[in-house]
Amino acid sequence: MIPPMNPDALHTLRTIFGYGEFRGHQGAIIEQVLGGGDALVLMPTGGGKSLCYQIPALLRPGTGIVISPLIALMQDQVDALLQLGVKAALLNSSLDAYTATQVEQRLLRGELDLLYVAPERLMTPRFLQLLERINVALFAIDEAHCVSQWGHDFRAEYLQLSVLHERFPQVPRIALTATADAPTRSEIVERLGLKEAQQFVSSFDRPNIRYHIVQKANARKQLLAFLEAEHRGDAGIIYCLSRKRVDETAQWLTEQGWNALPYHAGLESAVRHTHQQRFLREEGVIIVATVAFGMGIDKPNVRFVAHLDLPKSMEGYYQETGRGGRDGLPANAWMTYGLGDVIMLRQMVDGSEANEQRKHLEKQKLDALLGFCETTLCRRQVLLNYFGEATTAACGNCDNCLSPVQTWNGTVAAQMALSCVYRTGQRFGVGHLIDVLLAKTTESAQRCGHDKLSIFGIGKEFSQTQWSSIYRQLVAAGMLTVDMAGHGGLRLTSDSRPLLRGEQTIALRKDPAPRSKKSSATTTASVKNKYQFDSPEDQALWQALKNKRMELAREQGVPPYVIFHDATLLEMLEQRPARLSQFATIPGIGKQKLEHYGAKFLEVLAEYA
Ligand code: ADP
Ligand code: ZN
Repeated sequence: MIPPMNPDALHTLRTIFGYGEFRGHQGAIIEQVLGGGDALVLMPTGGGKSLCYQIPALLRPGTGIVISPLIALMQDQVDALLQLGVKAALLNSSLDAYTATQVEQRLLRGELDLLYVAPERLMTPRFLQLLERINVALFAIDEAHCVSQWGHDFRAEYLQLSVLHERFPQVPRIALTATADAPTRSEIVERLGLKEAQQFVSSFDRPNIRYHIVQKANARKQLLAFLEAEHRGDAGIIYCLSRKRVDETAQWLTEQGWNALPYHAGLESAVRHTHQQRFLREEGVIIVATVAFGMGIDKPNVRFVAHLDLPKSMEGYYQETGRGGRDGLPANAWMTYGLGDVIMLRQMVDGSEANEQRKHLEKQKLDALLGFCETTLCRRQVLLNYFGEATTAACGNCDNCLSPVQTWNGTVAAQMALSCVYRTGQRFGVGHLIDVLLAKTTESAQRCGHDKLSIFGIGKEFSQTQWSSIYRQLVAAGMLTVDMAGHGGLRLTSDSRPLLRGEQTIALRKDPAPRSKKSSATTTASVKNKYQFDSPEDQALWQALKNKRMELAREQGVPPYVIFHDATLLEMLEQRPARLSQFATIPGIGKQKLEHYGAKFLEVLAEYA
């Protein structure tokens, strides 16, 4: 039986945060922590993890201590809490000694509801002694997957957090993460000593994210068509594999009139910082980045995440695309992918220096990702399945659901493609192989005598593009591997034998023809841009509301979403409140925001009434 919701918790949710109801497990988690118990919370990005410790910290006596590795994020979180009238502060290496001492004084005087601390600061003997002198309401361990030595976010200091339990056995702990896999979860339990903790596992689905993957034809053109059709004026992230491609893409987008900035580890740290700040504080900035960008980015209104190159694994893809749509409004995860990407990634894994066990693991991860790219099934189902979550219905919000992919019996074509590899000696790249299939008498075909082979010209019923799609799918399916020497030559694997012997058939996906710029605007797979309104008055009011928000944000030196989320502004536009009492009912408006901003926004609304 579900216990009745704690009335104080609900009251706090409504008056301080301005939300009507708890979402998912939030209520139960808060109940557990309020009662003094430990909790392990697994919730996807945007699921609403922060309330799970913020509300108990407000309701329990003393200060809630939040441990977070993300210094950049702490400031935002504290700013957001201050806007709500919550007494919050932070302690990390970004503070000067004087400010840090002041924060400590406030902590000792019991003036803080919440204190965000970097783990290395927390674990100093001095700070631990300080904690013994105060009332600790709870310990929240954010990004708890940082204890995992296998993950890329590993932090050695996180391993020491188990001492909290030993030194403060009576203080409840709540560990939170958006990392979905089971091995990481058991590592968290193990290393943080959370065996007794109640686990709250939410679905990892991000229903507002629409997944689409397009076959690479001309990546830049495709990207531009996508942006023009769906994301004029939106903030988004574009991921590329190399620094060079980041720079080139950002520059090219800028030349095309887009507000794009590069971000990668090769840029000076001051430049990186400026670009990140502009992304956070201005509206409609596009960041073109390597995977170096994203950890600790908590901007709620990222409307799209685009991949010009493949991520390394499903985990990477999920994490990177997950940075879109944290506010729950529609967002696009868009990727362009082609034969070249498959070949390159296969080569990278085969040629890596890692030991056999590691290599095997990397291969499996890559296979899963390539399978996801090639699937004709609902992408969300494949994604969630990979993370061990069973789903029953197709989602209706991915490319494959919105425009189902045709398949065709590719057995004979695949046999031709594979024979061509075999007959030419298993050392040529796709370009040459397709030339042979299409009977193009190139110099190298003649030199190698390939124009004399029986397979020369047997593939004329298909076009160059179709052959390229067939080869891509065979490489993705693991029937062909790429040679290690780096020339991109293809070899048969043992998996290709049954097909060559005629013991197996293969269904291939019919890649949709690349859309022209014009028609892509009307594709069924397009998210209606939330910020494009039918009437010019609405459009003008929207702009006016955003301008007011920006003005207030600038005055206080905070990002605009700390004042109000887009969803709250959209509600204002929809509901057109005329009085403060009406304004107060809009989600995201608590007591303090009503007091500080109510009249200012009503004024803007009145101008457009
Ligand atoms: P996470 O840390 O899990 O990524 P956040 O705590 O930042 O997620 O919350 C994501 C968004 O959901 C925020 O905009 C937050 O204000 C909103 N939110 C959280 N809980 C609720 C709720 N009960 N009702 C409405 N909005 C909520
Ligand atoms: Zn789907």
